[in-house]
Amino acid sequence: MQRANEPSFRQSVDMMFNRAANLMELPPGLKEKIRVCNATYTVRFGVRLRGELHTFTGYRSVHSEHMEPVKGGIRYATSVNQDEVEALAALMTFKCALVETPFGGSKGGLCIDPREWEPHELEMITRRFAYELIKRDLINPAQNVPAPDMGTGEREMAWIADQFRRMNTTDINSAACVTGKPTHAGGIQGRTEATGRGVQYALQEFFRHDEDVKEARMDGTLDGKRIIVQGLGNVGYHAAKFLSEEDGALITGVIERDGAVVNEKGLNIELLKLHITETGGVRGFEGGTFVDVGAEVLEYPCDILIPAAMEGVINLSNAERIQAKMIIEAANGPVTAGADEILRGNGCIIIPDMYANAGGVTVSYFEWVKNLSHIRFGRMQRRQEEARHLLIVDELERLSKQRDVPWTLSDDFKKKYLRGAGELELVRSGLDDTMRGAYQAMREVWRERQDVADLRVAAYLVSIGRVALSYQSKGL
Ligand code: GLU
Repeated sequence: MQRANEPSFRQSVDMMFNRAANLMELPPGLKEKIRVCNATYTVRFGVRLRGELHTFTGYRSVHSEHMEPVKGGIRYATSVNQDEVEALAALMTFKCALVETPFGGSKGGLCIDPREWEPHELEMITRRFAYELIKRDLINPAQNVPAPDMGTGEREMAWIADQFRRMNTTDINSAACVTGKPTHAGGIQGRTEATGRGVQYALQEFFRHDEDVKEARMDGTLDGKRIIVQGLGNVGYHAAKFLSEEDGALITGVIERDGAVVNEKGLNIELLKLHITETGGVRGFEGGTFVDVGAEVLEYPCDILIPAAMEGVINLSNAERIQAKMIIEAANGPVTAGADEILRGNGCIIIPDMYANAGGVTVSYFEWVKNLSHIRFGRMQRRQEEARHLLIVDELERLSKQRDVPWTLSDDFKKKYLRGAGELELVRSGLDDTMRGAYQAMREVWRERQDVADLRVAAYLVSIGRVALSYQSKGL
């Protein structure tokens, strides 16, 4: 439980912002302009369900319009409130600036427990919420482009896109009004896995820098590193799956709503996910030991802790007992400002949310571009690329036959080399490049400035600097 004397989520984000802004030589007025949230729209609407009129409360907050459209997910949870959407919208501004997606920051939320409603009821609620936002241009391909967040996914995004289309029948760009759609409804391959994939790419990039790895009191690669993941939702599941299946990391603990499951030899994420889908929780999973009080597992020894659930889970009440050597913030705001200070003091390296979970919005950007260009990535080049590769392979083999001892290219090489990149490969390549580039930008500030002690301040410095430039070029 978070302590009562801790600042709210929005205040926590403000404190982190100020810590960085104080190191910058910007006019105070401009700092304030960048910090504040421009507007938050609250809507209360009624939907007749199960013979009764139910009133729902939703928000869409726009933090900064230095670039438009503004971008950010829509969350469905009972904990949604104005303070939270404003904090999340601010994080979107800095996240988009850090990974160079040309958007301002926004976020939305609906105060609802999606598990309490049937799909057809959720559709009615979503369409009605979307109607309210579309009417005010708070969903619009040129102004405000939502995406999935906690409690929402492809299905909700498809309903929103369809609702927009119904209200804007002649808008040829209507599909670009929302991202995270299913591929059959204008989505892009690799968007669902994107945030988790981004966490993997972020860690891979971190482990390419020996100096940084040493600072986190580790060495070597991701292979064999012990990782604890909180939340096996879309982000946590994909991150855990890729890190264990592709990088050789051991997922030694998974924390879920009903408790946690641990195994020092590593958990099988696919089997665990299946178990959660079938039984609703981790209890009873045979591949590990069940721990009743899940939150305690956050404090278990491990190399890397991945909080991928909610904000504020690492706070003044438990920060002192966290033993992880590093934390990568897959969720937004999982570490409070107070906890951040304690952890830094204890030598824990934190890869901040605005970088760590930026994979989602990065691939959202690709989806938005795809929708506006009305063509799938790779459609024009793929076969041409394959034909050119084939030319080289054929020529090499022809030359080889002229030698006394001809050599051959292995079938495996040829298979891999001859394959032109499709949409999924291009999306992953673009995401990998983005995650590497953003880490390097952040790292340069971290390593080069004496007054910058951690990656979070470095990330804010890069982002605020970019947002400031964009405001200044607008004459502000
Ligand atoms: N909700 C995700 C986030 O917090 C994705 C936002 C987007 O794709 O616009 O970053």
